Amino acid sequence: MPTYTYACERCGEFERVQDMSAPALETCPECGAPVRRLLTPGSGHIIKGRGREAHCGSPSPCCGRAERCDKPPCGK
Ligand SMILES: [Zn+2]
Repeated sequence: MPTYTYACERCGEFERVQDMSAPALETCPECGAPVRRLLTPGSGHIIKGRGREAHCGSPSPCCGRAERCDKPPCGK
């Protein structure tokens, strides 16, 4: 299960291991203050799958052209 990082208004940042299908926390389990989920670089679920996403970026574009196209997953 991936580890998510949350930022609590009072406690600061903390990590929480959650199932990917689990809803994001809205309040801090410690103090009950609102929290927001931070994007954790290297959480891995985009890079892990060596599918079409892996082709995008480098070295060759997924669309087979010399440059990236503007459609997903090349663009956005
Ligand atoms: Zn808190």
